[in-house]
Amino acid sequence: MSDKCYRSELIGLFGYPVDENATVVIMEAAFKELGLNYRYNTTKVYPEDLGTAIAALKAFNMKGTHITVPHKVEVLKYLDHISETAGLMGAVNTIYLVDGETYGENTDGKGFITSLYDNEVKMKGQRAVVLGAGGAARAMTVELAKAGVGYITVVNRNRERGEALADLLNNKTPTSAQYVIWNKPFCIPAETNIVINATSIGMYPDPNKPDIDYSTLLPHMTVCEGVHNPVNTPFLKEAAAKGCKTLDGFSMLINQGAISFKLWTGHDAPIDVMRNALAQEFDLEI
Ligand code: NDP
Repeated sequence: MSDKCYRSELIGLFGYPVDENATVVIMEAAFKELGLNYRYNTTKVYPEDLGTAIAALKAFNMKGTHITVPHKVEVLKYLDHISETAGLMGAVNTIYLVDGETYGENTDGKGFITSLYDNEVKMKGQRAVVLGAGGAARAMTVELAKAGVGYITVVNRNRERGEALADLLNNKTPTSAQYVIWNKPFCIPAETNIVINATSIGMYPDPNKPDIDYSTLLPHMTVCEGVHNPVNTPFLKEAAAKGCKTLDGFSMLINQGAISFKLWTGHDAPIDVMRNALAQEFDLEI
C-alpha cells in the first residue's frame, strides 16, 4: 500500500462546437510545469444539457471549467454566485468552485486589461474607440470603464448590439459612451488614445482588416487587437506602420487563461510556458 493519490483534479471546457479549441494545450503545459496533478478536459456540451453539465461540476468535485460558445450568457442562471463584472457583461467564461458552490467570472476583459498594464498604457481619463459590440467588446469595454477610461465610442454594424453596449456602459459603469453605426470607413477621432479591434475580422483564415480610414491612426494612439491567430494581424501591421504602439490578441488570450488558472489552482500561472506551448502548437511567431 502507498499513500500516493491516483485521483486528478478536474477542470473542464464546456462548449459546442469545441473540437478546435486549443486551450487544453496551454493549460496542460502549465500543469506540467508546476507539477500539478490536474487534467483539463475539452468537453462537448449541447445547449440543452448545460444545466446538467453544471450540476456535474459539483457531482464530480471539479475545480472549475472554462465556458465558451454558445453558453457564456445562458450559463448565468445555473450558477450560485456571479462576479459583479461578469454580471454587468452578462457573460461568464470561467467557473470555479469553493466549498461546493459555483462562482462565475469573466476573465476575457481582465486578460486584456493585464496586457494594457503590462505595456504601461495609461487608462485613467483616456478616450477609447472599440470596433465591434459582441462578447469580446463587452468584456473589454466594461473592464476599461472599471480601469477609469473616460469615454468610449462603440462602432458596430448592427445597431441593436451597438446601442445595447453603449447603454450598458452609460448606465452601469462610470464611463460615458456613444454608439456610431459602422456603414463606411470609420475615421478615428484625433483625440482617441486607445483603439481596439473587438470584431472577428482578421481571424485565420480571413486576411482582411477592419474598415477604418487608416490615415486617421496617429502615433500617440495605442492600437489593440482581439484576434489572436495570426499574432501580427494586418490591422496591427498597419497601426505599427503609422507609428502606433500595438498590443496583440495572443497576449490577451494567454493572460485570460492565466487568470482562470489562478482561480482554479491558487498558483500563479507560468505565462511564458503557456505562450510558448500555444505558439508551438500553431507554429506562430511570437
Ligand atoms: P461575437 O460573435 O460576440 O461578436 C462579433 C463582433 O464582430 C460583432 O460586433 C460583429 O458585428 C463584428 N463583426 C464580425 N464580422 C464583421 C465584419 N465583417 N464587419 C464588421 N463587423 C464585424 O464574437 P466575440 O465578441 O466573442 O469575438 C470577437 C473576436 O474576439 C473573435 O475573433 C474572438 O476570437 C476574439 N476574442 C479574443 C479573445 C482573446 O483572449 N484574445 C477573447 C475573446 C474573444 P455585428 O454585431 O454587426 O454582427
